[in-house]
Amino acid sequence: MPSESSLCCQVLVVGAGPSGGDLARRLALQGVDVVLVDRLDDLSRSAFSSAALPIETMTSLGLPAEVVGSRWREWQLIGPGAATRRWAAAQPLGVVLDFGALRRWQADQCRRWGGRVHLGLHACSSRQESEQVVTMLRRSDGSTLEVRSDWTVDASGHERALLGDPPVTDRRRDALVRAAGLEWLLRVSPSCWERWADRLSFCLGSDWVPQGYGWIFPMQPGVLKLGVCRLVDGERRQPPLGGLIGDLGRRLLAGGGAEGEPFEVLDRHGGLVRSTIRRREPHQRGRVVGLGDAVSTANLLGGEGIRHALTSSAVLAPLLQEALRATGRSTSAQQSQRPLREYAPLLRRALGWRWSLSGRLARRTWLGLHGPRADGRLDQVLRGLESSRAEDLSALLFGYRFERYGLRAMPYLLGWR
Ligand SMILES: Cc1cc2nc3c(=O)[nH]c(=O)nc-3n(C[C@H](O)[C@H](O)[C@H](O)COP(=O)(O)OP(=O)(O)OC[C@H]3O[C@@H](n4cnc5c(N)ncnc54)[C@H](O)[C@@H]3O)c2cc1C
Repeated sequence: MPSESSLCCQVLVVGAGPSGGDLARRLALQGVDVVLVDRLDDLSRSAFSSAALPIETMTSLGLPAEVVGSRWREWQLIGPGAATRRWAAAQPLGVVLDFGALRRWQADQCRRWGGRVHLGLHACSSRQESEQVVTMLRRSDGSTLEVRSDWTVDASGHERALLGDPPVTDRRRDALVRAAGLEWLLRVSPSCWERWADRLSFCLGSDWVPQGYGWIFPMQPGVLKLGVCRLVDGERRQPPLGGLIGDLGRRLLAGGGAEGEPFEVLDRHGGLVRSTIRRREPHQRGRVVGLGDAVSTANLLGGEGIRHALTSSAVLAPLLQEALRATGRSTSAQQSQRPLREYAPLLRRALGWRWSLSGRLARRTWLGLHGPRADGRLDQVLRGLESSRAEDLSALLFGYRFERYGLRAMPYLLGWR
């Protein structure tokens, strides 16, 4: 049977990542005629995100147990230098998601609530025709699909496939800050697994990953996630990430598995995070609206974006529904677009002022971390945290609650001293 060459819907969502998948399932649940597309033909593939989240996100954002890879209750910070510091809680503090399972679950929920999901479709362009958006999508065999919708949502992540990169008037304030990450999924021996289970481990300091950090997260019994991430610095030669992740594996995991071979690499994946620090970019162009990483919700301090992407869909879903209702009442085009005016300010409020502060802190912390002086400064900050509880560390790293450490600590945290 030949594939369709055109279709119509109320809302087209481009990108079945956490933000697009969540929006599509929310809208489908409310009876909206929604179509979710992704260029991937299998949502298990390219599961690039290490997907560590605080435990409360599971209930606040309505995520089911089936997307959880493992739980953790301890922070372990290795470095700078020889130091290893640990903070353990009695109860689980967070989860590591199976990113592929999350995307599959969201798409499945969208289908079950009556939405349509089309995979293997690459969105190339969109144009507005009267009060509709016409989006052109291409299949891998070269054939095309034209989708007419009342609204199109660009949830294509840092690629911003339809909205494009934001305009830059002031390079320092508005430019996209880029972080590149690489991750391996490793099968390890039971004894090696035991050493890394139940905790999030980060490697900090310029002798691990200059201008970034490394990590080991437990994925599921016998399987670990090993990763490196750093901010991209155009003014400095940066060693290849592939070499850094190999070194990290050898230094941390050697001796943990079969003779001579400490681990088996099951999958290699990676990706980019690109966010503006101030988030002042346009969130909308006509009837095309941006969501998640496409409007810079990823936070660069911990390379963390899943819960912020989900927050953006929780903010956008009711506004889109209101806009669709206004269209149904055959009000003027301007009136039907009015609810969307609230989107950017409401999202900014939902992310909070700490989000923005942590973005600034990220740029200073990671770009500056390339030598012994910066290592020493970081060591000093970590020493100051030694008497904290694991829960306090979560509040700092996930809640960005820097002010808890007092105003005197802020200049150090911000790298001003
Ligand atoms: C290495 C790495 C580790 C990370 N670790 C964490 C972590 O531990 N915790 C955390 O919270 N966040 C983490 N993040 C960030 C997090 O994964 C992202 O912020 C989050 O996935 C953003 O969700 P999104 O839906 O906005 O975009 P994405 O997840 O990027 O989804 C975009 C989707 O759009 C599709 N797409 C792109 N272009 C097109 C097109 N033209 N046509 C059709 N489809 C298209 C893509 O295939 C993709 O499925 C990590 C990121 C990286 C790179």
